This record gives sequence, C-alpha cells and structure tokens, in this order.
Amino acid sequence: MTPICLVGIGKIAVDQHVPAINASDDWDLAATVSRSGTVDGIPAFTNFDRMLAERDIPVISLCLPPVPRFAYAAKAIAAGRQVMLEKPPGATLAEVHSLQDMAAKAGVTLFATWHSRMARGVAAAKAFLADKTVTAGQITWKEDVRRWHPGQDWVFEAGGMGVFDPGINALSILTEVLPAQIHLQSAALSFPENRQTPIAADLTFSSGITAAFDWRQEGDQIWEITLQTEDDSVQLLDGGNRCVINAHEAEISDLDEYPALYDHMAKLLARGASDVDLSPMIHVADAMTLGRREMVEAFDF
Ligand code: NAP
Repeated sequence: MTPICLVGIGKIAVDQHVPAINASDDWDLAATVSRSGTVDGIPAFTNFDRMLAERDIPVISLCLPPVPRFAYAAKAIAAGRQVMLEKPPGATLAEVHSLQDMAAKAGVTLFATWHSRMARGVAAAKAFLADKTVTAGQITWKEDVRRWHPGQDWVFEAGGMGVFDPGINALSILTEVLPAQIHLQSAALSFPENRQTPIAADLTFSSGITAAFDWRQEGDQIWEITLQTEDDSVQLLDGGNRCVINAHEAEISDLDEYPALYDHMAKLLARGASDVDLSPMIHVADAMTLGRREMVEAFDF
C-alpha cells in the first residue's frame, strides 16, 4: 500500500476522500494536514511545511478550495511528492500550467482530478458517441448551494467560481464524452449584488449545446445532460451515474467516482505518468470573459 497524505480536511475530504482511501488496497492514509480538521486515528498536522519535513509520504492529495491550492501543490512538487488536485485544479489556468511544468521537471505525477468524469455512466456515453456527430445538447445542472456548500463563503469570493464550482462538473463530463471540440458562443451570468461570483449561468456553445446552471434550486436537484446526434439520443442522469441511450439503460461502470479517482492515481503512479486536462476550466474562463453580467438579489447562507 502506498502512504498518502490528505490536505484540507473539510466537506469533500470527509464525505469522499477518506472513505475511498480506506476502502482501497492501494492506499494507506498516513497523515492529514488541516488547520482544524482531523481524521480519527490518523496522525494530524496543522502545518504543511512541518509534515513535508518530518514525514516521507510520497503522495499528497489536496482537498483545499482552489485559491489556496497552488501554494500547497508547488511545495509538494518541490519536495518531490506526487500530487492529486481536487477540481477545479486551480484558481487560474496559468497556475495549473506552471504546476504541469514543475511536475514534469521534478519527474513526479500530477493528477488534476475531475470526479464527475468517473461517474458510472460516463464511459458508456463516451464509447457510444465516439464515431458520431453531436448536433444538439442540453445541460441542466441545478442544485441548492445551501445544501451542498453550507456556510462556505469561499465559493462566492473571487476565485471561488460560484455556480461554476458544480457547473464545471457538467463541463468535465461534456468535454470527456464529446467526440469533437466545442467552444462557447455566448453566456449570461447572474451575480448576487453582495457577491463576487455568479449564482446562475446560461451558456450557449457551438454544436447546438446549451447549459443552464443554477444554485438556487430547492426541492429536486437536477444534474442532467442530453445529447442528440442525427439518429440517436444519449442522456446522462444523476450527475452522470446513469446513461440512457435511445431510451434504453446502458451498462455502467461498477466503481464509484472517488474510488475510481484513487484507482486511476495508482495506475498513473505505476506508469510514472501525469493526467492534466484543463478543457472544462477553459470553458469557465471563457464564460467569465465573454459573459454578459446581470445583478440579482443578494444571497446569504
Ligand atoms: P471546504 O470544506 O470549505 O474546505 C476544505 C478544507 O480546506 C477546509 O476544511 C479547510 O480546512 C481548508 N481550507 C479552506 N480554506 C483554506 C485556506 N485559505 N488555506 C488553507 N486551507 C484552507 O471545501 P470542500 O467543500 O471540501 O471543497 C474543497 C474542494 O473540493 C473544492 O475545490 C470543491 O470544488 C471540491 N469539491 C467539493 C464538493 C462538495 O460537495 N463540497 C464535491 C466535489 C468536489 P482547515 O480550515 O481545517 O485548514
């Protein structure tokens, strides 16, 4: 088993990373670093520099929000450690390019994870669409920010991405399953008057693909992508965990998202390879560049 250190013991570390690591034969959770969070029975550091100096743990998985993440990743790579990044892989595209350069020069693995790409129906949709032309598509990604990010003000601060924090999950699936490149043609972004990031976004891409992201959804939560070709329809439901092709349920993968991410990291390490794809984040950056902005009602948790 490979020792691994988890950094940023918050919601996603506790909900997904710790159970996935504990359930795997590949990994041994050897330490955590967090200013306040801990995991029962695991040596806990509050200072990352001290952990790097005192413990020779070869793999670091960073579960921090995107803005503080670059400094941690750069230190880990400089210390010769292999690194996993939660999504989105950084606050800016350029900082992730820098990390790629650093990792390549240091000869270490860098894995920019996209957990939604590992959702159980995504591979089936990708395989079906591989030799087809998508002519239209609709993404509906509507959830309640109070439920999924309770009290997390960083999502509304600069660099926190707002509704693109979940929306980028849909874009990570879209860019995985599409057989050809698309680009953003227009966007409308809704910013609460007291916040720095959008709470809703409507996007129009080439190939007739549209996306509606909204963080004000109460009741049923909707994470759906429908893609049409001339003769076929592919639906990814439940955040990509179901795939329906021409009204028939497709066979899906048997690994959940986070176990699949850690499985992939183990394989990257074995091959000495990296995996960094910034295409979902490019669409978000384009939306922030091209999007019309409208001010909406103030939002408080
Ligand atoms: P979170 O709970 O707010 O933050 C994770 C931890 O990061 C915090 O507990 C905090 O630990 C540490 N942290 C926060 N700000 C920091 C700073 N400025 N400097 C150093 N450490 C800091 O966030 P999360 O929901 O787990 O999200 C973390 C990442 O996972 C995000 O990129 C998010 O997009 C991704 N993600 C989240 C979800 C979800 O459902 N929430 C799902 C999938 C992916 P300490 O205060 O103890 O240091």
